Amino acid sequence: STNDSKSTSKKKVVAVVGGGLVGNLNACYFAKRGFQVEVFESREDIRQAKIVKGRSINLVLSHRGRQALKHVGMEDTIISKGIPMHSRMIHALNGTQSPIPYGKKGQYILSIDRANLNKELLSAAETYPNINLNFAHKLLNWSTETGAMTFHLFVEEIQADLIVGCDGAFSAIRKQFLRQSRFNYSQTYIPHGYLEITMPPINGEFAMKPDYLHIWPRNTFMMIALPNLDKTFNCTLFMPFEEFEKVTTGDKVIEFFQKYFPDAIPLIGAEALKRDFFRLPAQAMVSVKCSSYHFGDKCVLMGDAAHAMVPFYGQGMNAGFEDCLVLNEIMDQLNEDFSAVLPEYTRVRVPDGQAIADLAMYNYVEMREHVNSKWFLFRKYVDNFLHIIMPRTIIPLYTMVTFTRTRYHKVVKHWHWQDKVINQGLLFCAAVSVAGGSYLLVRYPPSMPNIPIEQLWSRLQALKSPF
Ligand code: FAD
Repeated sequence: STNDSKSTSKKKVVAVVGGGLVGNLNACYFAKRGFQVEVFESREDIRQAKIVKGRSINLVLSHRGRQALKHVGMEDTIISKGIPMHSRMIHALNGTQSPIPYGKKGQYILSIDRANLNKELLSAAETYPNINLNFAHKLLNWSTETGAMTFHLFVEEIQADLIVGCDGAFSAIRKQFLRQSRFNYSQTYIPHGYLEITMPPINGEFAMKPDYLHIWPRNTFMMIALPNLDKTFNCTLFMPFEEFEKVTTGDKVIEFFQKYFPDAIPLIGAEALKRDFFRLPAQAMVSVKCSSYHFGDKCVLMGDAAHAMVPFYGQGMNAGFEDCLVLNEIMDQLNEDFSAVLPEYTRVRVPDGQAIADLAMYNYVEMREHVNSKWFLFRKYVDNFLHIIMPRTIIPLYTMVTFTRTRYHKVVKHWHWQDKVINQGLLFCAAVSVAGGSYLLVRYPPSMPNIPIEQLWSRLQALKSPF
């Protein structure tokens, strides 16, 4: 039973502004606690709309997001429509493909259709009698004094006991926060943009192996492809805007792909490629960090409104879903007293929101700069090896982020700690081998071992991707 609390706050009204991924999930959380929930979404009902404008067509769902869905009984429905991806599949320039597992056996991430997920969340929200979905309600402003909200095309002001800002990276709710003293805010656009290209099925079957996240790492450029239930792949090309600007004609698209992603041309089809490339202009990517996440006992920011991040860790939605879980845990601890819950939420969640935004940005830089460093690739191997022999002490960064609910800021701390330990260990090993080697060189005549360096190198090259 969900109505198990005796608190008088039950009849309080919670306004969730933004009926996207995080907003709808959040609405379910508040409804489950017995609040009267009003969701205000600027778009029409996407379940009826023909064209759904939005961001990436599919998304990676992992542990944190799944745990949050599980709490409202949605995990199974959502994962049944997801495609498990156990490994990355790295496409080298010469067309060879090499898989790299995401974690241990049985650990995988899921490719999820964004529009379908949003629809499922809307329908789930609709099953609660105490949730009201208000479409075509675009919030213009709200008053920090009275809490009253004003909407585009609606004259009357609407009041709620709590406003939950889930209105995404360009949050209108957040605008009022910017006027407050001691509110920190930063927003960074990266020089890369992205565009999406569909890879159709071939003879009714997936054009590539479906249970992988395919990656074509090319230093400053990168293409990834995620499978869809209709046997298409959704390819996303990430590239600096100035490079996009150079590709101005269909012929140049083919030339560009010929040079960097030749194996993808026959799979996508030259004509489709030329068409998809110019369907939409390349989209920008923004990272947003702020604090606090709350205003008094009136308003709280969640999801992208609080921490939009670049998509290179596949964590934006997962972190936003986890926000709902974290707030819910605090609501339990502090008896739904908003004046205590909201500051505590800020205290707990800001370090984590900032840590994952930083990690996502780190991965973006890692992709461009560090992947060429032999030392970096060597270290990835060492980390994975150590994880096998000391699974509790040494945990690869990706594993902590993707397959655990370790708080993001603790993930960063542990990562720095193990980095130091491993580097010192390696230094020690190097010193011992230099000393030992020198001794052996003096003692015995040298002989060259026959190490298959090429084989090792091609494996290391394959680790060039952050995903
Ligand atoms: P949004 O999804 O932006 O939803 C906000 C909602 O608020 C929308 O419905 C909007 O219409 C509504 N709204 C906006 N303004 C108003 C207003 N003034 N009044 C009323 N309503 C309003 N995350 C992952 O976890 N895994 C991934 O693999 C992944 N891949 C990504 C790939 C790309 C290319 C991009 C750009 C992002 C990716 N993300 C991924 C991040 C993910 O998309 C976001 O973190 C997630 O959508 C955030 O959800 P949200 O509900 O907070 O915001």
